[in-house]
Amino acid sequence: MDASVPAGNPIRGGLLKRFSAAVRNATKRAQSHREELLPNPEQSQQRPWFKYTNSYEFMERVRVGLPPVIICVACNGGIQGKEANEAIPETADEIARSVQDAYEAGASMVHIHARDPKQLTLGARDPDTWREVLHEVRSRCPEIIINATTGAGPGMTMEERASSLAATPEVASLNLAPDMSQFKLKQRAAPLPFPRPAQEIDECIPFTYGQIHQFAAEMKRRGIKPELELYHPGCAWVVRYLIEHDLLEKPYWVQTVMGYQTSSFPTVENVLQILKELPEDSLWLCSAIGPFQLPLTTLATLMGGHVRVGLEDNIYYSRGRKARNNAELVDRAARIAKELNREVATPAQARKMLGLRERPSPYYAAGDAPAHSTVGPH
Ligand SMILES: [Zn+2]
Repeated sequence: MDASVPAGNPIRGGLLKRFSAAVRNATKRAQSHREELLPNPEQSQQRPWFKYTNSYEFMERVRVGLPPVIICVACNGGIQGKEANEAIPETADEIARSVQDAYEAGASMVHIHARDPKQLTLGARDPDTWREVLHEVRSRCPEIIINATTGAGPGMTMEERASSLAATPEVASLNLAPDMSQFKLKQRAAPLPFPRPAQEIDECIPFTYGQIHQFAAEMKRRGIKPELELYHPGCAWVVRYLIEHDLLEKPYWVQTVMGYQTSSFPTVENVLQILKELPEDSLWLCSAIGPFQLPLTTLATLMGGHVRVGLEDNIYYSRGRKARNNAELVDRAARIAKELNREVATPAQARKMLGLRERPSPYYAAGDAPAHSTVGPH
């Protein structure tokens, strides 16, 4: 451009020089911004998981760019309901609407507790209710990865907890420890549906090796990816058992559950300790209860892991201020990820990272399945 400046015209030449310098600078800024957004080719050649506590791997991963963060929204849980936060979805329609908002805010996976429509304070106990809920969610969120609980809610039998598997979610949670808990539930007063007095729960869901084996075998038979819930470092024994019995496929999708009753205290040190026990080829999801959700999911974002947020684990947005909905918590997790230079995974990216089928599983409400198809995926 400078070559085109006519000689002997210092005024015009000066203006053009200044103009072309400004264009060059602007182009440079735009290019550097684009480069920040473009995936690093070195990154795309790497597997999306690594040994999170290995210093050398961490430095190398940060240098080339940490993989996109999978945000899982734990939308409702099986213990608290609208008496704790009005935004907790309970019916199939409420769950689907809440998940749609969270999906639009950046969630690529949803973890669901279907409720019994005849008693919304209790977990669903039959496959048809599960199919109905998964169908509603899929109708509103055509791409999201659907993850159903097998932990369910208090007072349920193992058969009832397994009822979600018959609806063949793409992923299902798998408790790896006995679940001992003691808590108070607030009174649920009218006009909320199904009012009940305040309750104190004190129970232990046993989860023996044999029962966990059965759940994992059923998931394998149905092509459902287990989400391995580690409550404390000792749960790594059970992961090892499941690998030895050929019940898991790589990558292992492991969740550190921090601060839930008899799980580890929700501290940075304890997260690191559990991570040290994970087998190779583990993709890590971090959840934490109540006020610990924000710091520990941010830790996972910093370290290259994935995050679970939502009203199941935390009904507050900030101290003393309840979350307005699931989307608000997802939106914050996505903002933090972007500020920390991590892309937010789309459902398609998350499917690839987890080794799930590319095509989202269809779900049909009872009696609604097309004649040529079985209910759910194969
Ligand atoms: Zn759950």
